[in-house]
Amino acid sequence: MVNNSVTISNLLKTHFGYSTFRFNQEAIINDILEGKDVLTIMPTGGGKSVCYQLPALLLPGTAIVISPLIALMKDQVDVLSSNAIPAAFINSSQDSSLNNLVFKKLQEGKLKLLYVAPESLPNLLPHLSKIEISLIAVDEAHCISSWGHDFRPAYTQLGYLKEQFPQKPIAAFTATADKATQHDIVTQLNIPKAEIHLSSFDRANLFLEVRPANNRMNQIFNFLEARPNTSGIIYCLSRNSTEMIAKKLIKSGYKAIAYHAGLTAEQRSEIQEKFITDETPVIVATIAFGMGIDKGNVRWVIHYNLPKNIEGYYQEIGRGGRDGLPSDSLLFYSYADVVQLRKFTDDAANKEYQIAKLNRMQQYAEALSCRRIVLLNYFGEQVTENCHNCDICKAPPHYFDGTLLAQKVCSAIARLQEQESTGMVIDVLRGAKNALVLEKGYQNIKTFGILKNTSWLDLQQYIIQMINQGILEIRFHEKGRLLLTSLAKKILFENKSVRLATLQKQITEKKVYEPKAYVDAALFQKLRDLRLSIAKEENVPAFVIFNDASLKDMADRQPRNVVEFQNISGVGSVKLEKFGSQFLEVIAEHQES
Ligand code: ADP
Ligand code: ZN
Repeated sequence: MVNNSVTISNLLKTHFGYSTFRFNQEAIINDILEGKDVLTIMPTGGGKSVCYQLPALLLPGTAIVISPLIALMKDQVDVLSSNAIPAAFINSSQDSSLNNLVFKKLQEGKLKLLYVAPESLPNLLPHLSKIEISLIAVDEAHCISSWGHDFRPAYTQLGYLKEQFPQKPIAAFTATADKATQHDIVTQLNIPKAEIHLSSFDRANLFLEVRPANNRMNQIFNFLEARPNTSGIIYCLSRNSTEMIAKKLIKSGYKAIAYHAGLTAEQRSEIQEKFITDETPVIVATIAFGMGIDKGNVRWVIHYNLPKNIEGYYQEIGRGGRDGLPSDSLLFYSYADVVQLRKFTDDAANKEYQIAKLNRMQQYAEALSCRRIVLLNYFGEQVTENCHNCDICKAPPHYFDGTLLAQKVCSAIARLQEQESTGMVIDVLRGAKNALVLEKGYQNIKTFGILKNTSWLDLQQYIIQMINQGILEIRFHEKGRLLLTSLAKKILFENKSVRLATLQKQITEKKVYEPKAYVDAALFQKLRDLRLSIAKEENVPAFVIFNDASLKDMADRQPRNVVEFQNISGVGSVKLEKFGSQFLEVIAEHQES
């Protein structure tokens, strides 16, 4: 019997080095081994790859893995090779002689897994009829759906796979799929009876925080100062801002670099490499960065701008804390970004759909209750318990009778003829005598300075809440000017009451990151150095040798012999033999020193 749990747990240890399955992995593997089609929705970092790689090892023939990202394919093949699992990829970027070599191996039955981009699949089909296929895995399966946020036309042709290979299990994987997308995947892949495995999307180790986008650079400097020697990613909307921010960070002594679509492929892979090895621990990137990067020790992810949808946001913050240790997710929120993002949708075919997604993103940023509840419910998980690991849970807002304050805000907006945006309304309420105010003569209107004792940020918060309560309307397409609704008139003239909330001051600046997460930081560093030198020798990314979780485990448990080394997470039989003695030696030397 191949598919009993003893065998597959053994294989998990000998080939991948893990002693226990993570949530859902075993059930998915068993379904595939029984020949069932499956759809797996599992968050980034949850461990999807093993779910098809392990059955690929057990079943006769070759597993075909459809994967959209060329860089990701190469990494996967490297990792598999490091565990002595025969795998290869074909894609258009690879030399045709190399591709032919792969075809040859395929025909000789020498590959357990073959990765292919959907665009290259037509070239592969003639070869497939001549070989034995074990299973077909479709990675990033949400790309098949125009409801998904990463639609790839070539994916829509994958429906014929089931027709052509009706007996072979098709296993679809994705980290992001709302209900509509899940339905689309199953329908288009022709796998109506697929077993659906939905893992929780919760990544409890990610701290969630949103702050107003004022003085962002200052805030970032404070944030980084509280987290010395950590690795993280700052996401921005534009190439220019990536370069501007990277420059400022470098000037202040941080090892940072900008990453965007304007760089050559070579430059980009060099940056990724240096990020993974911590040579450049801080990346300032457009959203193009991070796909397929498996770096365990990313300690924070900052969004300099508002992302355009929750799927993208969640995927990006999901690159933090993959080693299971805490990671901070900080989002800067401003109306200017909302305006900008709305403009981007102007020419889109599915504009309405994109605006709806942007609205949900905005609601998240403006939430006054647990942010994780908002996120998880977005992905269809019904959660009601507060998470205790977001800014709102840590510092719940104080509610107060805001009627008088709201009246003052409404009255200022009326006196400004409903022509001004939030920033100017706040300046007028606070009595700011800046050039623009004086130029327009606003210092003479009656409400000037009427709320001079309320802070800028608090007022901004109150105005956002008044918009959300339908008291004010913001005209995004007219420079964000604020208007009064009929409800505002009731507040002004009928004394209708208003409840507002004060957000407590953020406390996270003082939350210094604790490098003590590793029992022995010096040993950890020595292990990293060894890993880096082996990686350079073998010309593979460092995580192919061992990922950070494995090194941390070594530093924690300090194995003294082969038997103890075998118990380290990520140590399978191949790595034990290949690297065991070198790492044991470093650990022994360290203990003696
Ligand atoms: P995903 O594709 O879901 O984002 P991966 O398959 O890349 O996730 O796995 C994420 C990380 O978790 C990898 O470093 C992988 O080696 C590790 N991993 C996977 N399964 C296990 C397991 N059962 N035990 C420990 N680590 C695991
Ligand atoms: Zn919370």
